[in-house]
Amino acid sequence: MNAPAVTTFASGGFFAEVLQESQANLSACLQCKKCTSGCPVAGWADIKPHALVRLAQLGLKDELLGSRMIWECTSCQTCFTRCPQQVDIASLNDALRRMSRRASQVNSKTTVPAFNDIFLRTVRKRGRMFEAGLMASFKLRTMQLFSDMGKLPMMLWKGKMPLWSGKVKGRKEREELFRRASDRNGGSS
Ligand code: SF4
Ligand code: SF4
Repeated sequence: MNAPAVTTFASGGFFAEVLQESQANLSACLQCKKCTSGCPVAGWADIKPHALVRLAQLGLKDELLGSRMIWECTSCQTCFTRCPQQVDIASLNDALRRMSRRASQVNSKTTVPAFNDIFLRTVRKRGRMFEAGLMASFKLRTMQLFSDMGKLPMMLWKGKMPLWSGKVKGRKEREELFRRASDRNGGSS
């Protein structure tokens, strides 16, 4: 039988900041890996879910804020459902995304932040999604100009990618909602 792991935490500093920002029960983690064994994206994660928690406990700021996984987590909550200690890794990843943006340490190998920015900008401007505009902006920003182009004719044919989209009323109210969300996140969206 394996001896139980000795649990040590970094005192104060970055771990305290992560606890405050995420409100997640990180100190309770047993490193049992049930989160990782159920996570749909763990197979290609640079840091697996159980390891994110451990790195946070150890206060390893640069490894966490520069991680690809904090962006590629889908917030599906499978880890939380499986966890015997109710450690909320989706909230941890939300917090690490905000902290990563504030510290300008976003991983350059993931396109998720670019997608999120364009998605939110579209909703802010139009009050609804405009798929063709979103995909055109995303491809230009990431320079992935020809990826997935084979799917375009079928999406157009099925009406999944309309070439025009109107705007929904309430621009002023949307601006106010975005401003309040930005204030609550310390200026990061
Ligand atoms: S399932 Fe919960 S207790 Fe187990 S390693 Fe993951 S976060 Fe820690
Ligand atoms: S919430 Fe994120 S870390 Fe948890 S199982 Fe889903 S994808 Fe994995």
